[in-house]
Amino acid sequence: MAGRKTKVKAQTKAKIEKTPKKEGRCEDKKCPAHAGISLRGRSFTGEIIRKNGRTVKVEWPRFRYFPKYERYAKLASGVLAHLPECMQEFEVGQKVKVTECRPLSKMKHFVVVGKE
Ligand SMILES: [Zn+2]
Repeated sequence: MAGRKTKVKAQTKAKIEKTPKKEGRCEDKKCPAHAGISLRGRSFTGEIIRKNGRTVKVEWPRFRYFPKYERYAKLASGVLAHLPECMQEFEVGQKVKVTECRPLSKMKHFVVVGKE
């Protein structure tokens, strides 16, 4: 088990070293501002609740009425969205605007276009 743990650690380190750091240029092929991803469809404003590299989960609140209890429950809607290289300053907890675009991956059909 100890050997396996070491291997995982080594892989993570290699990945970090390989990642190129380009200053001032956005080379993201899925960036709406620099790569010409066309935007169409729905648009939402929400809060980033999870960030993993160039993917973010954006959620916004909604209310659903439950007749049995005669009360509203606070629920959340959300989408996975692409966070382009040039917008990596957005962190968990910040409010952003997402707009629908072509499918960018299996789960991502939205892209972050800017601040709220
Ligand atoms: Zn960009």
